[in-house]
Amino acid sequence: MTEDTIFHKILRQEIPCEEVYSDELCLAFRDIEPQAPCHILIIPRKTIPSLNEVIKEDSNLLGHLLFIGAKIANEEGLKSWRTIINTGEESGQTVFQLHVHVIGGRKLKWPPG
Ligand code: 5GP
Repeated sequence: MTEDTIFHKILRQEIPCEEVYSDELCLAFRDIEPQAPCHILIIPRKTIPSLNEVIKEDSNLLGHLLFIGAKIANEEGLKSWRTIINTGEESGQTVFQLHVHVIGGRKLKWPPG
């Protein structure tokens, strides 16, 4: 695992993103390959590869990411939506900087694959 993922490049503004929210703790931007009409990623500014690496001190940050997810969903006009955090390769995680997917704008199936 590297600490220099594509999301770190986005955080350093080395590659562009379609930003929807930013603060001192996190950045949110639209997914480059949206799986629904609304598909936004929220990433911490702190390097955390995945939920496998979180420590107790990250608790407030993790709560903040979900709070911002709810704020964004509300601003996007979503009434039903889903948050997803893939953890580890077999879950489908492809970028090893923690990120919360906010997905909505269409009927979502359950269970996910
Ligand atoms: P994962 O599969 O790791 O849970 O999610 C990674 C997500 O990042 C995917 O939905 C993928 O489309 C998105 N993604 C990968 N590279 C880029 C990029 O350069 N820009 C943006 N905006 N999204 C990206």
